[in-house]
Amino acid sequence: HVRELKSLRGQAAETLDGARIQLMANIELPEDLKLFRKTGGDGIGLYRTEFLYMNRPDFPSEDEQYERYQELLATADGLPVTIRTLDLGADKRALGRDHGPEDAHNPALGLRGIRFSLSEPNVFLKQLRALLRASADAPLRIMLPLVATTQEVLQAQQMIEVAKQSLDARGQDYDPAVPIGAMIEVPSAALTAHQIARQVDFLSIGTNDLIQYTLAIDRVDDHVNYLYDPVHPSVLKLISNILQAGRRAGIPVSMCGEMAGDPQYTRLLLGLGLREFSMHPSTLLEVKRVITRTNLRELRGKTRAFLRNADPARTPDLLRRLNTRH
Ligand code: PEP
Ligand code: MG
Repeated sequence: HVRELKSLRGQAAETLDGARIQLMANIELPEDLKLFRKTGGDGIGLYRTEFLYMNRPDFPSEDEQYERYQELLATADGLPVTIRTLDLGADKRALGRDHGPEDAHNPALGLRGIRFSLSEPNVFLKQLRALLRASADAPLRIMLPLVATTQEVLQAQQMIEVAKQSLDARGQDYDPAVPIGAMIEVPSAALTAHQIARQVDFLSIGTNDLIQYTLAIDRVDDHVNYLYDPVHPSVLKLISNILQAGRRAGIPVSMCGEMAGDPQYTRLLLGLGLREFSMHPSTLLEVKRVITRTNLRELRGKTRAFLRNADPARTPDLLRRLNTRH
């Protein structure tokens, strides 16, 4: 098995019937990049910027961020890179910043993700200017976390315009058409994905939060993690709706939550229409292995059964059938 995985390194992720699937890496810490270089992949689908801001008394300057983003793009060596703007708050708090009270009852419902960035315009603009400057000479996409409404996307886009104007005034280069995307990880955004899709250049499904908010299961609370179910019918309906929204709007949709890196869900996600997966590099070859043994045409009918099913107790059986036949 290990030898088989190794042999997949240089191979494209292609199904038996010839569909090319994009496999991207999630990078959270610098060591993840080393692993990405080993396993290979089509690019970086999620670069989490929080670690640049955490465990230090101050926030990084524009130049410090610019240098980090440039290093990252150099490592990716021309492959596409999606950098997510700051997703602080809830389980990712920064020192000395106001994310609401320390003992807030529901920090996951508080000032986090894009809400925090919009409430701290100077912090946000600094990051946007650094990202835009990095976009000047390498393929970079900017992704907004925890979007709940179309209004937040509009506000963030206005901030990006302001950042561009500052760079124009300084005479600094950037890619004027840098793609802007939204993470869909809040049920309100998943249910209005058709509207959001018309406003942005791409979507990415954040299943870690989407599952937490849909099922009302705290993702970091061990008491309820037995209820954390990525294939709950409600979650699958939302995922299917987001994928459909992307197809209708003609924009790409990726998935960057942990579900994308779990090989037991690969066929189901392919069947629902996902063609771009982003995951921790340690799971990339396992997922590629499943893809290379899958015939997309055989998935359609079986995937529909998941969407018709409303009983979570039936999904393990459906999943077994999907994963063992072929
Ligand atoms: C997610 O919510 O699925 C996601 C990828 O973001 P994070 O885990 O960083 O919240
Ligand atoms: Mg998230």
